[in-house]
Amino acid sequence: MDSFPTKTPKLGRVLIDEAAIASRLDALGAEITAVYRGKPLTVVAVLNGSLVFAADLLRRIPLPLRLDCISVTSYHGRESTGVVTFLQTALPDIDGRDVLLVDDILDTGRTLAAIRRKFITEASPASIRIAVLLRKRKQRESSLEADFAGFDIGDEFVVGYGLDYEERYRNLPCISVLE
Ligand code: 5GP
Ligand code: MG
Repeated sequence: MDSFPTKTPKLGRVLIDEAAIASRLDALGAEITAVYRGKPLTVVAVLNGSLVFAADLLRRIPLPLRLDCISVTSYHGRESTGVVTFLQTALPDIDGRDVLLVDDILDTGRTLAAIRRKFITEASPASIRIAVLLRKRKQRESSLEADFAGFDIGDEFVVGYGLDYEERYRNLPCISVLE
């Protein structure tokens, strides 16, 4: 056990407020709707981080879609561990479906690359695209890119609107920087 008191990080400035998120999601929803009209769309939300984003985004896609959720863990504190663990053994039924993977943030790209790899090797989706609320401006290790992204942000640690720091701050209505 660490005998030193650990410093609790403080919430910093608001990076993206509620109104900015809502108006960006209107545009993103319209963009996604245009791509999937007439297609067998399955939205797969990557829990827990994408819960708030997915809930708000889904209601802006007025198509007959299916929703599935998967849970993975890849992060501890502020540092990516690089190991992606799937918390379910069964995959959603995505054979022949056009899959939209929805996640909170694209950082190294490892998480979404691992999920996409698993979907392609273990099932036969018609297509897989990726939607993220946030995309960090940085060199990514994997060649993975987002097809739809809400906001490009700097390489700093953010919380709120589903994103946590050690399970805190997911319920903040805006995106803030953690100091
Ligand atoms: P990647 O695999 O792209 O490096 O990381 C993806 C996951 O790491 C995200 O789904 C998210 O859970 C976590 N993550 C990456 N950057 C941040 C950040 O700035 N803030 C928070 N709260 N989580 C992050
Ligand atoms: Mg997380």
